[in-house]
Amino acid sequence: MAARSQNSLALFSFKGIKVLMHWSFPLLIVWVVISSLGAGMDARHIFQQILYVLVVFCCVVMHEFGHALTALHFGIRTRNILLLPIGGVASLERIPEKPAQELLVTLAGPAVNLAITLLVGIPFFLFGNNAFVTDPIKGPTGSLALIGFIVTVNLGLFLFNLIPAFPMDGGRILRSSLAFAMDRVKATRIAATVGKVFAIGFLLAAFKWQQPMIGLIGLFVYFGASAELNMVTVQRALVGTHVKNVMRTRFWSMPHDATIQQAADELLSGGDHVVVVTRDGSFDRLVHRADIIAAMQAGQQLQQMQSIPGIVPESASLFTEVKDAHQKLSVGQWPLMPVIESGRTVGVLELDNLSEYIELHKT
Ligand SMILES: [Zn+2]
Repeated sequence: MAARSQNSLALFSFKGIKVLMHWSFPLLIVWVVISSLGAGMDARHIFQQILYVLVVFCCVVMHEFGHALTALHFGIRTRNILLLPIGGVASLERIPEKPAQELLVTLAGPAVNLAITLLVGIPFFLFGNNAFVTDPIKGPTGSLALIGFIVTVNLGLFLFNLIPAFPMDGGRILRSSLAFAMDRVKATRIAATVGKVFAIGFLLAAFKWQQPMIGLIGLFVYFGASAELNMVTVQRALVGTHVKNVMRTRFWSMPHDATIQQAADELLSGGDHVVVVTRDGSFDRLVHRADIIAAMQAGQQLQQMQSIPGIVPESASLFTEVKDAHQKLSVGQWPLMPVIESGRTVGVLELDNLSEYIELHKT
């Protein structure tokens, strides 16, 4: 899922993988407080509810690290782990195409929750009250209830993620298992269809039981299944095509010492959503038009373009396979990829170019 990092807050980083909290995540806490107040709970119980939500998300983060660290083992980096009210999303820079790798990367997430369930659950049920009495005066209820909750949550996360609703983990397990025996596009089509059926089931369940979170998951699954089927189909259509045949050669470019006022003028007279900033003819950075507008509003008209940090995205060369560029563009957080040859930007690549190319070359 692509999300510009401005929409989220970086919490911490582990092995180079940033954990981000989406702006909507605190809404979940607000929702918990409001619904707890509605149920007539006192402050202590509301605090407990919030604590429980945070416990769930700690387990979700560990689950996502299961995916991310296994992917890293196969040389696939993870851009970040984003926490949304409906769960976590690890943005791998690419989905492994080898069925065995996809299967292992996918299994690693639920495996973390199963491990926590067993490691915490077995002593909990074997030794019960004796093992976890930390405060004999207050009694075991508080911490025991929390430990019981941790076991339940991890068992729940384990089972829930195994539902074969592609692109949820269970659906990925289905897709990669099918891909051992058949073509990957066909395997994805089957998994996506099964995923959509589950998504509709989630939506119906959300209405029946008045559970908006299940509804959101249903929408996420439905659109996620379509998007990923589309991605796999597009990539198949692009096998053997090089960036040079698909890239856009007319694009907006400005030197690094141009003023922000000049950029704003060009933006009004027909600029793009992103400008390629060059330094002595070589690629320097991309600047989004939102950043130009923000700089204008901050009264920085006379400053140079290089004062805007912008971004240096992954680039392609003329003979990069379009399939690889498409994969990076699809999971990336920037809508455009510069095509660089001998340091110079010779074109740009956008997802729209690729769709148009496929439409024009349909047989
Ligand atoms: Zn997962």
